[in-house]
Amino acid sequence: MARDLSDFEFDPAVLEGFTLHDLKCDACSGYGNCGYRMYRLKDGKPVLICQQKKKKLKAQRDLELAGGAVE
Ligand SMILES: [Zn+2]
Repeated sequence: MARDLSDFEFDPAVLEGFTLHDLKCDACSGYGNCGYRMYRLKDGKPVLICQQKKKKLKAQRDLELAGGAVE
């Protein structure tokens, strides 16, 4: 059965500990250059998870874990 691969069923695991709000793509690039992915929530609503935001937040979190906030 053919399936549109750009459309994933939403799995909380993709958030990797962040919230949907944190990772929601604001169409940063407008052309999908940030590598967002579209998922479908259970109610059928599409949600865009921004890969660029996730990468940034993960880097930030790694820094915090590595030695606390450096000022
Ligand atoms: Zn984005």
